[in-house]
Amino acid sequence: MPTYVFKCAECKKTFEKIMTVAQRDKAKPACPKCKSRRVVPVLGGFVAKTSRKS
Ligand SMILES: [Zn+2]
Repeated sequence: MPTYVFKCAECKKTFEKIMTVAQRDKAKPACPKCKSRRVVPVLGGFVAKTSRKS
């Protein structure tokens, strides 16, 4: 299973999650530090198919 790196938009913590693509599509992980779900994927090794620019 691939490892995805996420960064919390609230507390800026980066964390890794091992999950399938299906899991990642279904639900975003929560930040382990502040439990926020405002996390953004950090690209490193994996190239996302879709990119949203805000
Ligand atoms: Zn956080």
